[in-house]
Amino acid sequence: MSELQLKTKEAGYAIASLGDLRDFEGKIFVKDVVETTGVEISFGSLSEGQCVPFNHKHKQNEEVYIIVKGKGVFTLDGKDYEVASGDVIRIAPEVVRTNRNTGKGVFSYICIQSKAGSLEQYTMTDGIILQ
Ligand code: ZN
Repeated sequence: MSELQLKTKEAGYAIASLGDLRDFEGKIFVKDVVETTGVEISFGSLSEGQCVPFNHKHKQNEEVYIIVKGKGVFTLDGKDYEVASGDVIRIAPEVVRTNRNTGKGVFSYICIQSKAGSLEQYTMTDGIILQ
């Protein structure tokens, strides 16, 4: 089981580490450690042959899954999609989802949740370059 360890916390920022992401196993929510206010980020893993034992959807949050390691299947509104390390899956709140490990070894991923439609500014429109 991996653990997210707080390395530094100051007014306005925090730094934490899970170690090498390729070795990650378990389920960890980032919010409580680094105190995010606009996104929920979690790390999840399934051991060989394991599946998430429920379907779910969300009230208002979309999710983006980034597959870190292994192979699996995401079932989205009843359709199966094979995914593997490097894949990025965006899922609207109302889509019913579950996923399972179909490969050899651990299947791990990062899940980022944010309120659907809340991104009004990003990168160049929100960033302020200071010299
Ligand atoms: Zn979810």
